[in-house]
Amino acid sequence: MSDNGQRNIELPASIVVRDLAKTLEVSPIKIIKTLMDNGVMVTINQAIDFDSAAIVAAELGFEAVPEVIEEENIDTEGNIPLWRQMLSDEKAEALVNRPPVVTILGHVDHGKTTLLDAIRHTDVVSGEAGGITQHIGAYQVEHNGRKITFLDTPGHAAFTAMRARGAQGADIVVLVVAVNDGVMPQTKEAIAHTRAAQVPAIVALNKMDRPDANPEFVKNQLAEAGMVSDEWDGDTIMVPVSAKQKSGIEDLLEAILLVADSTEITANPDGKVFGSVVEAKIDKTKGVQATLLVQNGTLETGNIITAGAASGRIRAMSDFRGKRIRKAGPSTPVQIIGLKGVPAAGDLFQTCKTDREARQIVEDRIQAQADKLAASSQKASLEDLFIRYQAGEVKELRLIVKADVQGSLEPITNSLAELKEGDIKVNVLHASTGNISENDIMLASASDAFVVGFNVKADGAARRLADTESVSIRIYKIIYRLMEDIDKALKGMLEPEYQEEVIGEANVLAIFRVSKVGKIAGCRVGKGEIRRNAKVRILRDKEVIYEGELASLKHEKDDVREIRQGFECGMAFKNFNDIQEGDFVQCFTLELFGG
Ligand code: GDP
Repeated sequence: MSDNGQRNIELPASIVVRDLAKTLEVSPIKIIKTLMDNGVMVTINQAIDFDSAAIVAAELGFEAVPEVIEEENIDTEGNIPLWRQMLSDEKAEALVNRPPVVTILGHVDHGKTTLLDAIRHTDVVSGEAGGITQHIGAYQVEHNGRKITFLDTPGHAAFTAMRARGAQGADIVVLVVAVNDGVMPQTKEAIAHTRAAQVPAIVALNKMDRPDANPEFVKNQLAEAGMVSDEWDGDTIMVPVSAKQKSGIEDLLEAILLVADSTEITANPDGKVFGSVVEAKIDKTKGVQATLLVQNGTLETGNIITAGAASGRIRAMSDFRGKRIRKAGPSTPVQIIGLKGVPAAGDLFQTCKTDREARQIVEDRIQAQADKLAASSQKASLEDLFIRYQAGEVKELRLIVKADVQGSLEPITNSLAELKEGDIKVNVLHASTGNISENDIMLASASDAFVVGFNVKADGAARRLADTESVSIRIYKIIYRLMEDIDKALKGMLEPEYQEEVIGEANVLAIFRVSKVGKIAGCRVGKGEIRRNAKVRILRDKEVIYEGELASLKHEKDDVREIRQGFECGMAFKNFNDIQEGDFVQCFTLELFGG
């Protein structure tokens, strides 16, 4: 506690609005509103600096203190990707060098995307006029006759991908720092994550063409952040570049190869075949298209694979240029078709002997995920999904589609595939005929999808499971209405549109102090009902002084889930202790688009 009775809270130098909401245990909307009141416009997945976060925290009754990012605080264990662990099972004598896999990290606007494009076009050796136009999430360039693989996840995604499960396919990180802007919060975070992932880093001192470039100053800042230039006896190579003018790119590639040579970047091309999913989507004519990064063994067309919650036989394989290939060795990014479901980026893929075995593995996986979800009671509610879409964790609206006949299934899935809002697309994970079954709900729950039915019913068992797993089911009789709703859902994801419903009101009649708990408000419910899990706001003289959640709801001495009109109850509020006699409590729910 601080002197003025506010609770202390540690906040990092930069925090994404969504994470701040979690830390302060309030809705992200509340944070956005508070920032707006202070003249700062943000979206939920935007990072704000400590000072802004501190203002918000103060308004919500917290005293913010700066958090020191200690390297030890980063979960190094969890950061070692599965494929690396699997690679360590290969016999040392079978290992041979493979091309390094590079990912580019850095603060927003420091030039990651421009640099990736510049590298792509500097690939003079490949002699491809006009460069590579298609983006499949990864590409390769050749420098001095040696290949380098770049993971091409643009913008913000590249940063979060580093932390995401298994997405750390990289052997080397290129940290982009704009020399006119210097070390920024995300630069520091990138440094910490690079260390945690235990991969070597190279700094690209970008925007050298700018008149206000100050590389020496930036090198100093980097040294302070623990990344010391090799010119100063440190171990990090720093390469001045201008992504915009495409200068210094060759030096950067040279540096990457140098670092690669000083690290063990190996695999067994004849060993077990596995790797990571870089990205996956449904193509209207080709079906599921997935970009895979082979990390060990040699992947061939005709191979049966499992990838996350999907399996299938590779019908065709092409390289990042779209050229058909039959075989792909370690560090090669390939695009494949033939999967029967859509895996998630970062999922591990591996080959299986038979189709049956592959299907069994996937079924077990889905079941295990469903069990885990149920155990952690993590809800795939629309509201939660929405938050995660906004946070950039999920870039698609996942659907399971069920229809009465094949004839209506096709037009529905085809039209759904065309729906898009900004970066967010519809991804039909599974489409089939028949009523909505428990299996559909299980798949939806395991993959954060929701279930859409056309002229079908959900059987009783499916409804019960959907209830316990909080999976949303929507059933339609008119295709147009279905499309309209999904389109709205996509739009809703970009523009949060919650509908608020006040479900109850209560007057605070007395205040009790309880040691350890703080203040309890003794209330009488004047209207409707107060629900333990709904949101509450407190009004004093008609002004909202708190919005959040209940920490407890009691009737006499018992904890209760709800309390109705005319009854008295005791309420305590999360992170709020300033309740007074005469205050007015409103209980409300938030629903995403209509319901
Ligand atoms: P990202 O957010 O890190 O992917 O950054 P972008 O690649 O989108 O670049 C952000 C802005 O900086 C864009 O306007 C680029 O044109 C500009 N930019 C990128 N590299 C350079 C550079 O080397 N010099 C200059 N002057 N501008 C650059």
